[in-house]
Order: sequence, then structure tokens, then C-alpha cells
Amino acid sequence: MQLYRAKFVLPIATPPIEDGVVAVERGRVAATGRTADFSGPFTDLGECALLPGFINAHCHLDYTDMAGEVPMRGSFTEWLADITALRRAWSAPQFAVSACNGLIGASRSGTTTLCDIAATPANLGLVAAAPMRVLSCLELIDVAGQTIDDSQWACFAGLSPHAPFTASAALYEKAHTFCRKRRRIFTTHLAESLDERAMFEEARGALYERLRALGRPMSDCGHGSSVELLDRLGVLRGALVAHANCVSDDDIVRLAQAKAIVVHCPSSHRFFGHPPFPLERLRAAGVPVCLGTDSAASGATLDMRDEMRQFGAAFPAVRPGDALAMATVAAAAALKRPGVTGTLAPGARADMIAAAVERNPRDLPEAAVMSRGAVWLNMVNGKAVHRED
Ligand SMILES: [Zn+2]
Repeated sequence: MQLYRAKFVLPIATPPIEDGVVAVERGRVAATGRTADFSGPFTDLGECALLPGFINAHCHLDYTDMAGEVPMRGSFTEWLADITALRRAWSAPQFAVSACNGLIGASRSGTTTLCDIAATPANLGLVAAAPMRVLSCLELIDVAGQTIDDSQWACFAGLSPHAPFTASAALYEKAHTFCRKRRRIFTTHLAESLDERAMFEEARGALYERLRALGRPMSDCGHGSSVELLDRLGVLRGALVAHANCVSDDDIVRLAQAKAIVVHCPSSHRFFGHPPFPLERLRAAGVPVCLGTDSAASGATLDMRDEMRQFGAAFPAVRPGDALAMATVAAAAALKRPGVTGTLAPGARADMIAAAVERNPRDLPEAAVMSRGAVWLNMVNGKAVHRED
């Protein structure tokens, strides 16, 4: 058994412990408590907070090196066209290096689990070999009538039909059935932009015109929201929904009834200038909300503390401890791993980080969220992934 001592232990599931210890055995948390309750030897991590590693519930590792390459020129639709063109221009090695850089940045900043939307299936071996908990969800697009090869689906932790405007109803249904039968993650971008809302609710707007020009059948537009469309298909059930920025009260009821979970990505939200995120309305309806970064192409750093800080700035009434829960324990549940990670409760995987905090923090979760730079230690399954000397 390995005993890690720190000035503060923040198990998340239970109250903080000053002068605490996390006992790790065979890659799992065996116990937490005060140092006085254990007899050493200790690995003393010193004046820091030891807490569960962050869980990024929505990211695109393979776009990491696109940071700053796809500026927002006016509309979400134009941005989509720009990133699609850049994707076509990139080579397989560029995507591979980009994903590696994403993994390095995430581990240095304290992330231990990522739900990665994999648009580059060839990267699967690379990200699977990373010593982190990477849950790869294969991105599915058939907007141009592509035939989808499902032979590799079982290799992925989940599936991600891209969005209701780029994936057909048949593809959504097939992917949802596959994930439900095998208990995989089913995730999609939904209700992200005003352009998407205008397309589905009013059969007009920039996104509508662009997709019609690409030859997408548009008969599903003009009959209600994209949330309503997916609900009618039955594929909202248990879905992990990225964004949900532009939702009506009826849409929120649908999300709640379907037991969907929303991933909010604060920096991407700010990058696009979407309408205010409906946090209070989602929470009031009982829809769980967790946090993700989205991609570096839309302004993210892949540092979950940046997302928590931006979230805190947009919602000052939410306590830092709540934001931290959204990036740990709530995200673990969203990714079908409750109790496995995102907590330092006994039995959980020892996915934990040591972050520098001020000497006498007024609010320990806030101090952890405000920490900057590389974490001192990042550990997955009890093994160090990143260590600062
Ligand atoms: Zn995304």
C-alpha cells in the first residue's frame, strides 16, 4: 500500500481533510483520512491539495493544434465551413501529433479522464495507448449520403453522431441502438447555435442554406426544434448532449424526461458568442450538467481549470465546489463511470492530482480551481502520468 500525504485532501465525495492521506492499493483508493490515523512511511506531497483528477466530458483531441487557426469570422455556419476545409487540408500525421499535444496539455493541467470525439479513427490506437482514461467516441457524419462502415464501432467507448444537421435519422437510430445494447456512451452536439435553431424550427438561415446547397434532404426542417427531432426518434434517451445552448422550456422538459445529461463548454460558448447558457432552467428541470472543453479550434486550452474559472465568472452564484463536482464526480456519472473515477472514495480508481494551493485557502475547492500551470502530480490508476520535479 502506498500512502500519499498532503496538506489538504479533497475527496469530493466527502468533506475536505486537513493534513490528510490517500492510501492507494493495486491502483485503487483504499482509504482517506487524517495523517494521524495512518502509520507511514508516507510519500509526502507537501503544501498542496490532493484531489480527483479532472474529467473532461467533451473534447476533440485531434484538433488541438488548430488553436487560433479557425477564427470566428461572423457566424457559426461560416466557422463550420472553415474547420471542415482545414480538416481536409490536414494529413494523418498532423492529426496524430495534434492529439498527442492534446493529451500532454490535458495531463499537465490535471485531467485524468477525457471523453474524446474521435473524428480521426486512425488515432484510436495512439490515444488508447496513452496512460490516461481516454473514452473515444467515434464521430459519425453522413450529411452527403455517405455509407457508414460500422465494422469498427465495437472498438470505441462510444459513438457520436455529429449533430442533427450532419447525421441522418437512420444513423442516429442505428448508433443509439448499438450504444444502448452495449452500454456505450452515446453523445452528440445538440442545440448549439442560433443557426441550428433557425434551420430546424423555421427552415431558414445560414446553416439551412449551406446544408441545402450541399444536397442534404431538408424535409426534417420547419417542424420544431432539433431537440424535438431527436426526441421523436427516441435517441435522446440517456444521451450525453454537448452544448444545449439554445433550448426552449419544452426542449428542457424533453431532455429531463429522456434522462439526458448536458455538457457545457464555457470557453467554446464564449468563443462563438452563443446566447446565455440556460444553467438555472436545466438544473430546475433536473437535467444534470457537467463540463467539457470542446476543442482548441474553438478557443479551449484543454485545461479544465480554465473552464471552471470561466464558468464561475459567468455564474458567480455557483460555488466553486459545485463547479469542481461538475468536472469530477458528475462527469464520471455522465460517462457511465460513477464511483470508478472522479472521487477519492474507497474502491475508486486512484485517478488523482496534486495541485498547488495557497497556504490558508478561504475556500479549498476555489483554491484548487484557481491553481495555474502544471499540476505537481497527475496519477491514473495509481501510476504517475505527469510529475513536476
Ligand atoms: Zn464539440
